[in-house]
Amino acid sequence: MTTGTDGRVDEAAGGRDEAPGTEQAPRAEQASGVEQGPRVVGSLSPSRAGDFMTCPLLYRFRVIDKIPEKPSPAAVRGTLVHAVLERLFDRPAAERTAAAALELLGPQWERLLAAEPELATMFAEGEAGEAERDGWLEQARRMLERYFTMEDPRRLEPAERELFVETVLESGLKLRGFIDRVDVAPSGDVRIVDYKTGAAPRADFEARALFQMKFYALVLWRLHGRVPRLLQLMYLGNGEILRYEPDEADLRATERKVEALWQAIRRAMDTGEWRPRTSRLCDWCDHKVRCPQFGGTPPPLPVLAGGAGEGGGAGGAVPVVAVTADSDGPEYDDL
Ligand code: SF4
Repeated sequence: MTTGTDGRVDEAAGGRDEAPGTEQAPRAEQASGVEQGPRVVGSLSPSRAGDFMTCPLLYRFRVIDKIPEKPSPAAVRGTLVHAVLERLFDRPAAERTAAAALELLGPQWERLLAAEPELATMFAEGEAGEAERDGWLEQARRMLERYFTMEDPRRLEPAERELFVETVLESGLKLRGFIDRVDVAPSGDVRIVDYKTGAAPRADFEARALFQMKFYALVLWRLHGRVPRLLQLMYLGNGEILRYEPDEADLRATERKVEALWQAIRRAMDTGEWRPRTSRLCDWCDHKVRCPQFGGTPPPLPVLAGGAGEGGGAGGAVPVVAVTADSDGPEYDDL
């Protein structure tokens, strides 16, 4: 599914993903002509890293098999709310009011729908479907109204919105993703802001929520040499804000974690073993029908041209997939 240029869904669907294969790292040194970066051996976004941590088989279905998924009303609503908040900052500061945000909602929904007509299938035809869609839009409205209880956008001037970032670690692993908003203080301190359209997680799930933010902080640190001062998750589902001040040790630990994850992904690629890991998220998984944990059978692994080439690994009897991009699959980290 792709939903245009404003939201997260099209990022996930491949429009913003690079093709598999090796390439030179697009580093600052390279841009300045001083030095070329390491050879890229793979890439990872926070969403796909999260998929693998949630369930390696889910990662396989999304990234290796590239099996399309039905548009999810919750994910599309997240895309819609993100698009409205991004557009809101196009307005002069004094005009960034709740009324202005709500005015943007209908036209943004029409834009998403025009770009991806299949989004209409989220709702049944007829009166029942219309009522369902109205309720869905009403929830988006409430999230936007709640946003204004959390901060005043008239007093903010973001440095960046929907910022695409990428960097290549010394190992050749490319980290990439889109940051909702970057604020820079006159002192140069950087705040990374991410909007979530779900409710704040319980304390024991906070580390998971912060992983994505530390991932982005790591990328910015590697790019600019300065550790972002604050990571801020804004939960529009219940109005809570989670803030965290990272330090270098945090970001080094995040780098080790990301590298370890990539090694685990590579092992799964080499062996063809993508283990299912059940959790409450299975209730929302589009792939239950082909999941062995629920009586299904995964399709045979695809064998891409190039076999055990750049991303594939050892090969042998197990089909090897030469995937180095973390492409495809829906973006659920807004939930
Ligand atoms: S149903 Fe659960 S265990 Fe099966 S692939 Fe989906 S998330 Fe993984």
